[in-house]
Order: sequence, then C-alpha cells, then structure tokens
Amino acid sequence: MKYDALRNYVGGGFVATESRPFLDVYNPSSGDVISKVPLSEALEVDAAVAAARAAFPAWSATPIKERVQVFYRYKSLLERNIDELAALVTEENGKIASEARAEVLKSAELTEFACSLPQITPGEVLEVSRGVECRIERFPLGVVASIAPFNFPNMVPNWTIPNAIALGNCMILKPSELVPISAGRIAELLKEAGLPDGVFQVVHGGRMAVEAICDHPDIAAVSFVGSTKVAKVVYKRATSNLKRCLALGGAKNHLIVMPDADREMAATNIVASMSGCAGQRCMAASVMVAVSKTDHIIERMAEVARAMVPGRDVGPVISAAAKERITTYIDEAEARGATVIVDGRRAVVAGRENGFYLGPTIIDHVTPDMRIAQEEVFGPVLVIVRTPDVDAALKVENASPYGNAASVFTESGSVARYVMERASAGMVGVNVGVPVPREPFSFGGWNESKFGVGDITGRGSIEFWTQAKKMTTKWNREAGVNWMS
Ligand code: NAD
Repeated sequence: MKYDALRNYVGGGFVATESRPFLDVYNPSSGDVISKVPLSEALEVDAAVAAARAAFPAWSATPIKERVQVFYRYKSLLERNIDELAALVTEENGKIASEARAEVLKSAELTEFACSLPQITPGEVLEVSRGVECRIERFPLGVVASIAPFNFPNMVPNWTIPNAIALGNCMILKPSELVPISAGRIAELLKEAGLPDGVFQVVHGGRMAVEAICDHPDIAAVSFVGSTKVAKVVYKRATSNLKRCLALGGAKNHLIVMPDADREMAATNIVASMSGCAGQRCMAASVMVAVSKTDHIIERMAEVARAMVPGRDVGPVISAAAKERITTYIDEAEARGATVIVDGRRAVVAGRENGFYLGPTIIDHVTPDMRIAQEEVFGPVLVIVRTPDVDAALKVENASPYGNAASVFTESGSVARYVMERASAGMVGVNVGVPVPREPFSFGGWNESKFGVGDITGRGSIEFWTQAKKMTTKWNREAGVNWMS
C-alpha cells in the first residue's frame, strides 16, 4: 500500500473513521492496491454538516469580492502543483499523463470562471416608479453537497467546489470511493489558498454516505454526477426530502457522419473521442451513425485506432469488473452478427499484465436493437450503425433515452444546422468529437442524462447554488403615500 488509509476532512483537518469498514483502492494500470478508503455513514455526515453549519454565518457574510480571492490563489496552486496532481489522477484513475494534466488544467479553468462571479452576479435593479425600486440579490443556500463519479477525480469535484463556495455556500464533497485520493489534496490546497476551516469537507464512502447526505435535514442542495441509475435514486431521495437537486447521469453519445465530412479530421476526432480517457467520459463518442457512403472515413478510423498503443495512448479502464463488463458487450454484439473491425479485447501492456487494459475497439454493422447500441458501455468502444440518410440517422439518435452530447461531421452548413436543431441532446457539436461547452456556457445534458433544473458549471450553475431575494424599496415621498402601501 502506497498511501496511508484515507481519512475524512472535517473542520479544516483530517479526522479518523476507524470504526468503519474500509475498501481497497486500486491503481488500474497495475492492479495493485494503493490505499484504503473508509465507508462513512450518517455519523460522519453529521459531523461534516455540523462543521459546515458552524462556518456558514461568517463565510456567507464575507463579501463575494473577498471570497473569490481564495480561488485566485487556489487556481495558482492547481497550476503550480499540476505535476503532482496529474500524477495522482493517473495513479488512482489510470488515465495517461497528458489526459491527467488536461483534467487539472480544466479544474484551473473552472476556478477562473468562479473568480469572475463578482462581475457576473451583480444583481439587478429596476426603477418601478419615482423613488421606488425593485432589486434582486442572490444569497447562498447554506450547507450543500457534491457527489462525484470515478472518471474525473480532480475535475468533476471542481465543477462544483469553486462556484458553490465562491457564491457563499459551505460544502460537503463525497468523492467516488474508487478514486478518493485526489479529494484530500484538493482540501489541502483550498486550505493553503486561505479557505476558512469548515467551509469545505470531504466525506468518503459509497451508498450509505450518499443516502445520509440525501436525508440530512441541514443540507439544502445536492449535486450529483454519475450513472443514470444512481442519479435517479439520488434525485428522488433528495427532492423527496425537500432539497434542491441537480443529478447528472450517464450518456450514449451519437456522432452522425455524412459522406462529405473531411476524412482526416472526422477520422481522428472520432477515434480521439471514443478512446480518450479509455472511453470513460460522459462526452465520449459511443455510436457513429454512418450516413450512406462513408467507408473511406471508417477505413481511416480503423487505421488511426489500430496505431494506438494501450499503455501509451490509451489508459486502462477503472476495474477488473469494468473490463469484463465491456468485453461482454463486445462478445455479445459479435455473436449477434456485428463485425469487430478493430479489436482491443486482448490488449496486454508489457510489465503491467495485471492492469485493466482494453485497446480501442470499433464494431461495424451494429443494429439499433442490439444492447451495445442502446446501453452505456463506458469503455474505448465505438459502434457503427449504418443509415441511408440524415433523417434515419436522427431517428437513431432521437431514440436514445440519454441526451448528453451529439455531433455531426459534414462540410454542409445546412446539414449541420438541421442536425443541431433536431438532435435530442443538451450539448451538440459540428465537426467536434467532444462538444464540451466552455464557461460561461454551462455543462449539462437532456433527457435521462440530467435530472433537475439548471446546469452544473458556468452561468447555469449560479441559479442552482443561490436563492434570489426580491427587494422593493420606496425612499421618495413624492411616490405617494399609498403607492404599494
Ligand atoms: P456511479 O453512479 O456508480 O457513482 C457515482 C457516485 O454515486 C459515487 O460517488 C458513488 O459512491 C455513488 N453511488 C454508487 N452507487 C450508489 C447507490 N446505489 N446509492 C447511492 N450512491 C451510490 O457512477 P461512476 O461509475 O462512478 O461514474 C461513471 C458514470 O458517471 C457514467 O455513467 C458516466 O456517464 C457518468 N458521468 C456523467 C457525467 C455527466 O456530466 N453527465 C460526467 C461524468 C460521469
């Protein structure tokens, strides 16, 4: 074991949870156990909420211009410590070094947006009569919680931490028990940046900790990022306890490829989208809907994918169980008549034979009724569904219960616009494999990829993390004594 057993972070320090069971934490590249994580329950959530409640009056009364000073320093610390933070992401999640660095850089970019909040949340004032004003000001909610998945141990927590805290809330972070180590470093860096004790807590654990968060009467809002199955459970449980909840779920992203698409750009972008982070991204290409004569693009995609070396260009998937699940999807599609044109099932990395590796896999002639065309696979696997025209392609895309991302590859502006308007997804792209919106635009899907109102980053998150107070004032007698008595 490389790291000591992990501890929760409460009230500005790490605290022991010895009475709880621990779960092993793996390095997915080697299969080695590198740490162990406590499975907290209601008692630990209570302690974290008590610390956050105690910190809330002073933090929420601190002017926002002062609150964001912490995040200017935090952003510098993320950049200064990028080598160490990225190495930690690689170690617990498995992603390759360049992907881990990009993840930490994105955290810095998200923090930069939080630093701009004083400029973009100034409130609004309307003169409704002479000397009579209506104004809106935003106030924090109180203690809020953020529940994170395994695929971005540094970035997804930073989707919520800078905005929620800069807007005056105190937060409990529940990281994924599969990748819990980065959260402790985030806590240390926030403290180093000057965040007062108690404003940020980390509670480790799994289902029990999440249920305790959803049930806790003193938590005002819960954000969740993870699979659709759990997003539904969390959304129902948190809202039935009268909390605000925004729950982002899984995805099945369709890329519609037209015959006129630029061959090289389409092929490289699509393969990068399906194989980046070993396909474990909620924005990853999952289904390519190939319209009419697109063999020249598919052949080039196969060349690009075959040239990728597992361990160098593609990291492992998160666990032995994930590898087995993904392999089963591929086996099943093949048994039902699909053609595996690039096969990553037998990937082995020399010296890391126990790592959970799969190479990029492309499967042609998949039909929309197959399980692999409908369900989230969450591995470096792309299926190709062939259609005769763009309307048939849109029908395939629209039939998915998910709705995170969709893209079209074409040189035609009118086809691009046609698809953008009709794709049933919250984030759409043209000639872009991973159409993540940049702040101030916000991140969030449609349909079963998101439950709740608002988005998780950017401007869309401001409403979620605050409540508006509408103030009406009259300071002029000329307005008449009876005006709005
Ligand atoms: P997951 O749903 O298994 O876990 C997410 C969180 O929920 C973790 O913190 C986990 O401890 C907790 N959890 C797990 N089971 C639970 C249960 N039964 N009750 C209560 N809490 C529970 O997701 P994951 O495997 O960690 O992450 C991958 C999933 O996340 C994929 O489906 C992916 O698409 C999705 N994801 C979505 C987005 C998005 O923006 N929509 C972003 C990243 C990941």
